[in-house]
Amino acid sequence: MKLIIATRNIHKLKEIQAIFDFKNLEVLSAFDFPEIPDIVEDRDTLEANAIKKAVEIAVATNCWALADDSGLEVLALDGAPGVYSARYAGEHSSYSDNNEKLLRELAEKTNRSAQFRTVIALSDAEGNVKTVAGECSGKIIEELRGTNGFGYDPLFVPEGYAKTFAELSTEVKNRISHRARALHKAHDAWAGIIGS
Ligand code: IMP
Repeated sequence: MKLIIATRNIHKLKEIQAIFDFKNLEVLSAFDFPEIPDIVEDRDTLEANAIKKAVEIAVATNCWALADDSGLEVLALDGAPGVYSARYAGEHSSYSDNNEKLLRELAEKTNRSAQFRTVIALSDAEGNVKTVAGECSGKIIEELRGTNGFGYDPLFVPEGYAKTFAELSTEVKNRISHRARALHKAHDAWAGIIGS
């Protein structure tokens, strides 16, 4: 069976390929279909974006497709930046613009609890789709720490750890992250479909 991963992000692809190591599964990605345009993530929930990407790629390639969407949800900000995490400080904002905005928004707040959340959608060639989600809880600290990773990693300390995601090794982050948890859930939930 062929499964197309709806991403052109090589790091994401490698992480997914490592977990979806089923015997009879051929994992391809959007890199293998350069003619398919990038899908615009214009929905207002992580679920809806993941579903949109998985269904569009599945229908366009006539294969099973898998897509993910992730974001940071901060309790004191009613779940923001959430689905808007990539462009929190504006349409073409950098990671550092977004981190600065997050620190400003949290300046007066005492509750700094947050979670990263990933939704993964799996679609068949007809567009029948299912989703699973994975979370990683933690808190937002008051200054940036660490240089690994990307996005909000220098501000996020996962529960049970003293270091930020950007101070932890990639190996540790990939073991406990929202994306890893969602991918393992997807692996277990859908083994009967994509593993056979
Ligand atoms: P994507 O859906 O994986 O592209 O994530 C959307 C946005 O959420 C990214 O641009 C980051 O701002 C944020 N984000 C998602 N996952 C992570 C993570 O593991 N660390 C830090 N930021 C993340």
